[in-house]
Amino acid sequence: MIIIKFPDFIQNNLEKNKNIFKQHIYGCPSCIFEGKLYSHGSYLRNLITEDNTCPITIYRVKCPICDKTHALIPDFLIPYFQHSFNTIKKCLELKYAENASYSNIMNYFRSRNINSYLTASDISIFIKRFISNVPKIRLFFNTFSEIYSTESTSVKDLITFINEYESVSNNSFNLHFFKNMPTYFMCKT
Ligand SMILES: [Zn+2]
Repeated sequence: MIIIKFPDFIQNNLEKNKNIFKQHIYGCPSCIFEGKLYSHGSYLRNLITEDNTCPITIYRVKCPICDKTHALIPDFLIPYFQHSFNTIKKCLELKYAENASYSNIMNYFRSRNINSYLTASDISIFIKRFISNVPKIRLFFNTFSEIYSTESTSVKDLITFINEYESVSNNSFNLHFFKNMPTYFMCKT
């Protein structure tokens, strides 16, 4: 799996562009090959945002040297999650910044998008994953940003840091975390 950035005009018109932009990918994450990876089919997956639920096309590429295939995940998605990065972040914000209950969180998303399919078990998975990623998130900020976090930096503060990081134009926390860290944001630990 490779996380990639799409041009903003595509990100802003996802429902109209179910077949999202195909781009050339150079360099295999599994071996030392630095050339162009072959196109290798595609599949549909669900994207759930605060406002919408729609299928999007995920392209795959294959390395001509090691034969590994890699799904190209747009940076508004976290690998293996149907809810978008922003939706998951919003869910964590409601929980940690506003102390919202699970049912308040579910009602919030249902009122915005009737097909948001956010369950209590989704919320608890988001929270569990985020908490188990805390040491990596601290390491990311201390190593790759001007933002400094310590062991006493709370989960709530880290979510604020992610927003601060993203407030700089073109900064995609999800993409940069993937590019700089040995794994992806919200990965199983
Ligand atoms: Zn390879």
